[in-house]
Amino acid sequence: MFTTFFSQESQPQKEKPKEGDLYKIITTFGKTFEIYYGYYEESDRYSKYSEPIEVYPDFIKNPEYTKEGTPFVTAIQNPCEYYEKINDTTDKCIDCKYFEKGEEMFGLCKCKARNKNKHLIK
Ligand code: SF4
Repeated sequence: MFTTFFSQESQPQKEKPKEGDLYKIITTFGKTFEIYYGYYEESDRYSKYSEPIEVYPDFIKNPEYTKEGTPFVTAIQNPCEYYEKINDTTDKCIDCKYFEKGEEMFGLCKCKARNKNKHLIK
């Protein structure tokens, strides 16, 4: 018990990330993304409880595709019109049957209707 107490005491305090700090460089499905700490909403910045968090790309505003034309999504992305819910938890892409998980929060949307090359898919 004392060992646990003293070993926790001697751990250096981890510095809280600041806005603009690099969280990670993540390569998934052939693309590399730099993820920085920040805020999703401008209003979050002024909340007294808010701290910068890892901000993932907004693929609704700025779509990205694999070379096969498959759209990138994030697990926390709001669902689109083709959403097919398989879990009753979040109402986000992660609960859709077309979500294929990648690294961290990244994924692909395997819905043919959303593929950039859908005219080539049989
Ligand atoms: S995974 Fe694809 S089809 Fe499913 S909700 Fe997200 S964007 Fe829409």
